[in-house]
Amino acid sequence: MKIPFLDLTKINKQYESSFKAAYEEVVQSGHFILGNRVQAFEKDYAAFCQTKHCIGVSNGLDALKLILKGYKELGQLAVGDEIIVPSNTFIATLLSVTANKMVPILVEPDEKTYCISAALIEQSITPKTRAIVAVHLYGQIAEMNAIYTVAQKHGLLVIEDAAQSHGAIYHGKRSGGLGDAAAHSFYPAKNLGALGDAGAVTTNNNKLTEVITALRNYGSQKKYEHLYSGENNRMDELQAAMLSIKLKHLEQDNELRRTVANKYLSGIKNSAVKLPVANDQNEHVWHLFVVRIKERERFKQYLLQQGIETLIHYPIAPHKQVAYKELNHLSLPITEALHREVISLPISPVMTMEEVEYVIKAVNAFT
Ligand SMILES: *Cc1c(COP(=O)(O)O)cnc(C)c1O
Repeated sequence: MKIPFLDLTKINKQYESSFKAAYEEVVQSGHFILGNRVQAFEKDYAAFCQTKHCIGVSNGLDALKLILKGYKELGQLAVGDEIIVPSNTFIATLLSVTANKMVPILVEPDEKTYCISAALIEQSITPKTRAIVAVHLYGQIAEMNAIYTVAQKHGLLVIEDAAQSHGAIYHGKRSGGLGDAAAHSFYPAKNLGALGDAGAVTTNNNKLTEVITALRNYGSQKKYEHLYSGENNRMDELQAAMLSIKLKHLEQDNELRRTVANKYLSGIKNSAVKLPVANDQNEHVWHLFVVRIKERERFKQYLLQQGIETLIHYPIAPHKQVAYKELNHLSLPITEALHREVISLPISPVMTMEEVEYVIKAVNAFT
């Protein structure tokens, strides 16, 4: 058997006829950027996230950057501010901070969930700290109640990097509506993936929405009148149309991912393989199924020989990247151990139970 890490062709094949009809409509309309389809998607995605606003943008990194830049324009953040970020995350979280000339302060993860540790945040706060970016890593919501308690005590903004958690629920509330503002990515491999790059910001803040709506379009609210030195971070009509089609199936897709994850959790029994932990309060959406193993390289090669493709999220910690030489000296042992030992097993809404069983058998037979 051959099991790809993620079969995007099979995922998108399900929507082929709707995609074709949407494509015809968009081409026929002659309107390609920030039109009715973007507006319709924004309305539907805001409703899905239980927020007042959604602003469609070009990708997840731009969504993060726009939130920080938006708060700068509102006078709530400034160059040189310290922003707390998880040390165990995808590089985009840090890039959005440094792109805004702010200082990322790295905080180690909770050893159970691998999301930023709320307990460790407080000791990293200085008089310069202004915000916390919580990443809902692998599809599980960070400890938002504890994070909010710390944030309120110190007057900090809470920003969600919700790029991996479309549809996840925490104490009854949806990912994207748990902070002051949230960034979403619709990169093709995400739980809600476009057929190219796209992203969004969700928030209940009217002023921030106004600023980001202008910032994404050359800082302009009225054509050729520029209030801010904005950029081009727009969403296009084709992506919005495709996303609206897939959004209707997101809950069902997440349920299928949960079925796969639960099979793995109950079926994998190998003392060398440490399984992920789903917090009781969370409805995890399993963007990734990440296990830990000391002999990662041998395990990866072994699975590959069995036809099972795996990936590593992520092999090098952000503070060890060449791009962040100024952070290379940091010692973050939990994060470094994770980057040495994590490996992601295939998971998706289109995996068959036969494939899942095959992976379980192979993992259990590894010695
Ligand atoms: C994917 C991802 C991003 C960036 O999204 P893009 O759309 O690729 O720019 C940001 N943060 C996290 C945690 C991600 O997984």
